[in-house]
Amino acid sequence: MHDLPIYLDNNATTCVDSRVLEVMLPFFTKNYGNAASKSHACGWTAEQAVEIARQQVSALIGCEANEIVFTSGATESINLALKGVYEMYSSKGNHFITVCTEHKAVLDTCAHLEKMGAEITYLPVNKEGIIDLNELKKEIKKSTILISVMYANNETGVIQNIKEIGKIAKEKDILFFSDATQAVGKIPVNVIDDHIDLISFSAHKIYGPKGVGALYVRRKSPRVRLVAQMDGGGHERGLRSGTLNVPGIVGLGKASEICNENLSKEAEKITSLRDHFEQQLSKQNIKINGDDTLRIPNSSNISFNKSPGEQLLSLLSRKLAVSSGSACTSATLEPSYVLRAMGISENEAKSSIRFSLGRFNTRDEIDFAVDYVSECLKKVSESSNIPY
Ligand SMILES: *Cc1c(COP(=O)(O)O)cnc(C)c1O
Repeated sequence: MHDLPIYLDNNATTCVDSRVLEVMLPFFTKNYGNAASKSHACGWTAEQAVEIARQQVSALIGCEANEIVFTSGATESINLALKGVYEMYSSKGNHFITVCTEHKAVLDTCAHLEKMGAEITYLPVNKEGIIDLNELKKEIKKSTILISVMYANNETGVIQNIKEIGKIAKEKDILFFSDATQAVGKIPVNVIDDHIDLISFSAHKIYGPKGVGALYVRRKSPRVRLVAQMDGGGHERGLRSGTLNVPGIVGLGKASEICNENLSKEAEKITSLRDHFEQQLSKQNIKINGDDTLRIPNSSNISFNKSPGEQLLSLLSRKLAVSSGSACTSATLEPSYVLRAMGISENEAKSSIRFSLGRFNTRDEIDFAVDYVSECLKKVSESSNIPY
């Protein structure tokens, strides 16, 4: 038997890989130096470890080591990118273009900037979750200083046409930021090929520890400048002050290295598990949300037509760790704004569940999950007389 619940919520967070934990541990105890202590060996050891991690992280996205800024996670990286650009380039313009299906970390930061005087355009998506590049072009104006489009969506796994968006931004001399928290480590991401100027991502989504992440900041053609959002000792080239989280950074480095070494193999394995899962479930009355081909390997967002979502989720949760993809406020389910933006009806959105697979899921677990979902669906339909 398996440990229960079976964890199928890897887009929310992942288990720290034992190989990652192993390289982190000495930096809590034996090697506890401050990476900014330049006068003794304890500091040098920490600094060296941070620089190795910087290389491991940069290799994963095809940039230079000195283009990586370590932060406390993707949320902080996003805040630094958006607020940092807004403040630095205010003389050039105040207009951002982003997408209505972005993560809350982007949307809430944009809302904050709107209060500060920014003008933000929120692009719609089609029913596959993809933006229209012609609409993007149409929204560009003289005052546009940043385009912010997430690489892959956390609820549906849908991948945007990042390279094409990068080309458009480059042509128009507009900075391009991508929240790549769900793409990095799962599919090839290369800042040069994709023409990206700023990228955010996080360790805990790629089998590293929570509370550490990175922001890529392009240094040439163009050299991106940001106003720091954290003032202090001038760490991280003045972009993010504060004593470095050395164990966390070492963990992010190792997690990046492992992802980089096994990227295509792991993607293949997880895709095949995910496809098996969807194929088995397709015997039920389901609809898979989001573009079928432009999707990261691990994500499956499924509408269980005519099943009341709250009841289904509470049954499923007894044995599966899955997510509704919607914000739970008190006892009522808010339908996901991501699914709503894709034109999915409120009831259908409420009956949608996100299954996100990961490195440690086995075929046995997936087969168990399929059987259990089917069992729950049967129970729900038997007990329900709600006319959905
Ligand atoms: C998880 C996630 C974030 C936030 O990351 P934290 O490191 O937890 O702050 C941002 N964007 C996306 C797409 C995510 O999946």
